[in-house]
Amino acid sequence: MNTAEETQILDAIGKWLERDVRPKARALEKRDEYPDAMVETMKELGLFGATIPQEYGGLGLPASTYARIVARISEEWMSLTGIFNSHLIMAAAVARYGTEAQKREFLPKFASGEVRGGLALTEPDCGTDLQAIRTRAVRDGKDYVINGTKTWISNGIKGSCFALLVKTDPKASPRHKGMSLFLAEKGKGFKVSKKLEKLGYKGIDSAELVFEDYRVPAANLIGGEEGKGFHHAVGGLELGRINVAARGVGVANAALRDAVAYAQVRKTFGKPICEHQAIQLKLGEMATRCEAARLLVESAARAYDAGERCDMEAGMAKYFASEAALENSIEAVRIHGGYGYSTEFNVERYYRDAPLMCIGEGTNEMQRIIIAKQLIARNPA
Ligand SMILES: Cc1cc2nc3c(=O)[nH]c(=O)nc-3n(C[C@H](O)[C@H](O)[C@H](O)COP(=O)(O)OP(=O)(O)OC[C@H]3O[C@@H](n4cnc5c(N)ncnc54)[C@H](O)[C@@H]3O)c2cc1C
Repeated sequence: MNTAEETQILDAIGKWLERDVRPKARALEKRDEYPDAMVETMKELGLFGATIPQEYGGLGLPASTYARIVARISEEWMSLTGIFNSHLIMAAAVARYGTEAQKREFLPKFASGEVRGGLALTEPDCGTDLQAIRTRAVRDGKDYVINGTKTWISNGIKGSCFALLVKTDPKASPRHKGMSLFLAEKGKGFKVSKKLEKLGYKGIDSAELVFEDYRVPAANLIGGEEGKGFHHAVGGLELGRINVAARGVGVANAALRDAVAYAQVRKTFGKPICEHQAIQLKLGEMATRCEAARLLVESAARAYDAGERCDMEAGMAKYFASEAALENSIEAVRIHGGYGYSTEFNVERYYRDAPLMCIGEGTNEMQRIIIAKQLIARNPA
């Protein structure tokens, strides 16, 4: 991808955000309403195929361009990125580990947005410790029969196909050898049991999914071989973490942008509050966090695009950028004073959206542990 192509894509997305998203996001988010019309435009823009290889109908964008797109959209409404982020991680699992038949069957439908979905890993009893999942798949002729419950699944209601992590051999040791990843399309035995209510990240549906004697063809086992599911699921997490980090950059930037604008128009003691040193200290820290977060994301995305190992880099970007979003959002609320607490301004939304990025795609506690482990591994004494 050359710079001119990237500029063209970012310009088209920028125009759409200003024309259609900025004026409508607040009302949709207040009603926790799924943005159907925006999803249609996202399909036209090719976002559901952003990182899917061109030979299967996608745009084949590098992670660095993709991260810029995610950050830009998140500056307007972070929830929108969740509609295609986990969908693209599902697609990446097929593109990287799927059989040729699976790629040909699923990737073009994912790329057009005709079939959308996400990742179904987390269960009511476990998220971080994924190897403790209990959803079970048992082979029966040409099918597997699946029973279990998944929770917090993004796009769970509006999506129709999910990369579903299950146990095919619950007694395996180590535990990950008994895990497999299936492409599970909605059908008999696959139920959405409830929509989950949330602090923020509104508009996008988060759901609990229940599988009761749900039959999935053996042909939908990603890669065609049992026991590789954990590896396939976590293999997408580097890109997933770069995604979440880019969302953090977007929210941190939005909080800074709104704070800089407000601080110039709000006056106290005869001058704009941006002339008070207490506010300047905040703005200085916020701007520095934005820039540092952006550079960490760029560096992780560059390593990912070069095919280098980047779990430490993606972990650092995810950890720093999500904390930057959280810190900038509360500072923006403070700078807005009482109006920061009002639903008539966007800063309270950033403050409700930001914590998700500290939790999703591996909590920030786990990111610091991953960073430390890699640091030791790369620097033996
Ligand atoms: C809005 C939203 C959307 C989501 N979307 C999806 C989705 O699409 N698909 C999906 O599969 N999941 C999704 N999730 C689930 C998310 O990935 C999990 O919530 C996350 O992985 C944490 O798991 P948990 O909630 O079970 O927390 P737990 O694993 O129970 O962790 C609780 C706390 O303990 C800490 N902790 C756990 N183990 C350790 C350890 N070894 N060392 C130190 N600290 C530890 C954690 O950091 C955390 O602070 C979503 C969650 C939310 C809130």
